[in-house]
Amino acid sequence: MLALSAQGILPKADYAIFADTGWEPRVVYSHLDRLVREIADPAGIPVLRVTSGNIRDDALDPGHRFASMPLYVLNEDGKQGMTRRQCTGEYKIKPIKKKVRELLGYPYPQRIPKSVFVEQWVGISTDEFHRAKDADVRYMRNRHPLIDLNWSRADCIRYLTSIGLADTPKSSCLGCPFHGNAQWRTIRDTSPQEWQDVVAFDAAIRQGNARANASGNPLLGQAFLHRSRVPLDRAPIDHVTAAEWAARQQELGDHAPEVQELEDGVVDGCSPWACRGAEPAQDGFGLTA
Ligand code: SF4
Repeated sequence: MLALSAQGILPKADYAIFADTGWEPRVVYSHLDRLVREIADPAGIPVLRVTSGNIRDDALDPGHRFASMPLYVLNEDGKQGMTRRQCTGEYKIKPIKKKVRELLGYPYPQRIPKSVFVEQWVGISTDEFHRAKDADVRYMRNRHPLIDLNWSRADCIRYLTSIGLADTPKSSCLGCPFHGNAQWRTIRDTSPQEWQDVVAFDAAIRQGNARANASGNPLLGQAFLHRSRVPLDRAPIDHVTAAEWAARQQELGDHAPEVQELEDGVVDGCSPWACRGAEPAQDGFGLTA
């Protein structure tokens, strides 16, 4: 959308906002720098980087209130569960709302008049139109320009390729539990340092986040980044052959779509205003209109 805006295919955006969880892959940060240098700056579109802190550090800091990541849990009785996802709200939606309020001239907790709002573009393509949602506050009105253009994911990739951005990486936390096996393999096979980092993090959250433990609310069971609920360095992330794939799909029957999710990651992933069950930001940015 930034490139479309810079090229005049979409109207010129006043700002672009990047919500930084502090734990994106290195390629995402370098790609962002490139977008700023080659597209945003020449077009005069300021890219604002906002943050609520570093999600990795916060999870491991017993003194820090932590908005939990969606970890896979194996309970003491062997039952499987997940921890509640609060991180999208805390690390993405909250800092974006804070910045938008500032840009409008009404920082929290000031009341924003009804007539004052921003138009916010969310980059959902036609194949995921079910993710298109309204904002939950009056001072932000969501639009979905890619849907308006009738662009699918393939159209987006074609366009990015045509402007030299075929290598656009997927943005998400390095250790996001929503990764599919393909993403875990990419980290393992292309970035040994980042792989070590996620493996160490996975081991460090085995008993849940540090703050919950310090405050007397320990996790009754074990937490994992990989869906198999096996430590990441031993989790079954390797590619399966077509024959193995077919056998698994047959075996799983109705659960076959889950096999696809295992490889590609949780379909709806993490995106502000577009994710499954995103928690609203908790500190009043969400509700004070
Ligand atoms: S990318 Fe994953 S871990 Fe990071 S904020 Fe989103 S859901 Fe949470």
